[in-house]
Amino acid sequence: MTQQGVLIVLSGPSGTGKGTICKQLLRSYPNLHYSVSATTRAPREGEIDGVNYWFVSKDDFMMMVESDELLEWAEVYGNFYGTPRRYVQQQLDSGKDVVLEIDIQGAMQIKSKFPQGVFIYIIPPSLDELANRIYRRGTDSPDSIRQRLSCASSELAYACQYHYVVVNDSVEAAVKKIEAILTAEKCKVDRNSDLIDTVCQCGTTE
Ligand code: ADP
Ligand code: 5GP
Repeated sequence: MTQQGVLIVLSGPSGTGKGTICKQLLRSYPNLHYSVSATTRAPREGEIDGVNYWFVSKDDFMMMVESDELLEWAEVYGNFYGTPRRYVQQQLDSGKDVVLEIDIQGAMQIKSKFPQGVFIYIIPPSLDELANRIYRRGTDSPDSIRQRLSCASSELAYACQYHYVVVNDSVEAAVKKIEAILTAEKCKVDRNSDLIDTVCQCGTTE
């Protein structure tokens, strides 16, 4: 039987660097696959449908909800976002690891369905630096930036619901910490019962 892949959930305030970290992780882990979310948010410049998000209308999103196509969904900063169920399930069942980059509401829904998932909360070095990053990114309207920054402090209070917290001071350092977390998670006894059985069945060399 194939060992189930590991489900990794990354959350953190908008602008903290989740997307940047995720891209780097995907480069170093060929077995790690990114779950492309569906959203009703308008695409930012350079964003590609099916790569960054599945950009859908509100009606289509609600149809996905009604037909139970989403593993979790939430309204975040005035738009809807959700994780397509089928892709995640297929990847995990075939032993591939999957990363979800989702908000706290979604992460808590996933935690109740996948308690064996790895929940990592990414924090910025400071709220000032968070504001700098979100302004420098230059992808959101002033209203949207205000909304995102005003939610940041209350969002940070939810970090205690996660298994790990990683500060994104430098991208390289943050990615290294997440790699260490994944390495340790992969060695957990609970995830290796098949390996232990296989070794036991091999018998002794004498
Ligand atoms: P999120 O996905 O959490 O909303 P992004 O990955 O889009 O955040 O990062 C927000 C901005 O901050 C981007 O312009 C990105 O290049 C920048 N950034 C990310 N990580 C760092 C870092 N460690 N130091 C400085 N800038 C960073
Ligand atoms: P952005 O608009 O900056 O791409 O994302 C805004 C917020 O929505 C971020 O906190 C991001 O993690 C979250 N988000 C993205 N995709 C999903 C998803 O599928 N489900 C949930 N619940 N949140 C998501």
